Amino acid sequence: MMIWERLRSALASALTAPVFIIESDDWGPGSDEQAQALEALRQLLKGFKDQRGRRPVMTMSVILSVPDPQAIVEWGEYHAFFLDDPRYRSIVEALKAGEEEGVFALQLHGLAHFWPGNFMTAWHNDEAIKRWLIDDGWRTEKLPAWLQSRWMDAAVLPSRPLPPALIRQAVRDETVCFARCFGRAPKVAVPPTFVWDENVERAYAEAGIEVLITPGRRYPGRDQAGKLMAADRAYVNGQRLSSGLTALVRDLYFEPALGHRSEQVLGHVEGKWPRREPALLETHRFNFLNGKLASSLKALETLLEGALSHLPGLCFLSSYELATKMADLPQIPLHERVQVAWTRLRT
Ligand SMILES: [Zn+2]
Repeated sequence: MMIWERLRSALASALTAPVFIIESDDWGPGSDEQAQALEALRQLLKGFKDQRGRRPVMTMSVILSVPDPQAIVEWGEYHAFFLDDPRYRSIVEALKAGEEEGVFALQLHGLAHFWPGNFMTAWHNDEAIKRWLIDDGWRTEKLPAWLQSRWMDAAVLPSRPLPPALIRQAVRDETVCFARCFGRAPKVAVPPTFVWDENVERAYAEAGIEVLITPGRRYPGRDQAGKLMAADRAYVNGQRLSSGLTALVRDLYFEPALGHRSEQVLGHVEGKWPRREPALLETHRFNFLNGKLASSLKALETLLEGALSHLPGLCFLSSYELATKMADLPQIPLHERVQVAWTRLRT
């Protein structure tokens, strides 16, 4: 990390109580198995409370459409099914019920988990993508990683930025679709695979988004091999951006299906407190599907129990609440603030 980035991180907002948020991505149109997983997650989360009586919040970053295989094959052009289609009612109902109970917080992930033009070029040229569309057309997590990025023109790699007018229109379309599905506009956005640029940030802000989830870095595109290009800027928690958005940093990972053990993840969560930083844990729907639901629920339960017992005063919040409250946090005493800055500089 550059020296000035370390300094900015050292001086960023300091929490007065530990904060724990599970951030989950990729929920959207697809198999009804998701509704069952969401129902089980709601029940599990409702079994826990922090000392203020607040339940744990799992943010749900939602994809709003998936490709329509039949129409694409028939017409050779992009068509999609949207989340407000009656066939996905049980998924939408489960998401809304969890939000009403305060255990889910719905966030915008994207109208699709890719840029449709990129997808169609890949579909025309690649037999594996044609097979994916027929066999798994809603499981976007199975697409090549580079194709899962939305905010770039990847007709050829390395990718190029998308024209700002197309970005603005696409962001308007996805915020309108989100409101159609959930009866309210989105306030928090999570750019797919964390590839985005300044024009996306501005378009989000213009469309009413207030909070941007980042991994502490922005990746401007994909290189020749489809790998993430070098980050072109850094972010800290609570940072007010020139676009008007407030940034949060999600840099812990909880993917039990990939072998992340609760005890290990708990250690990372605890490591955030000496730095007076929130623990935002990234997870994905795939952990809770395909026969993995029971073991992942168990892992989440162990993690929540551990976090509550190891971190006195732990607070459950949504990412939106955290971002919008950070600027107004009570000041911690100066000597403690200096200690926190020193801890952040050293590690
Ligand atoms: Zn995603």
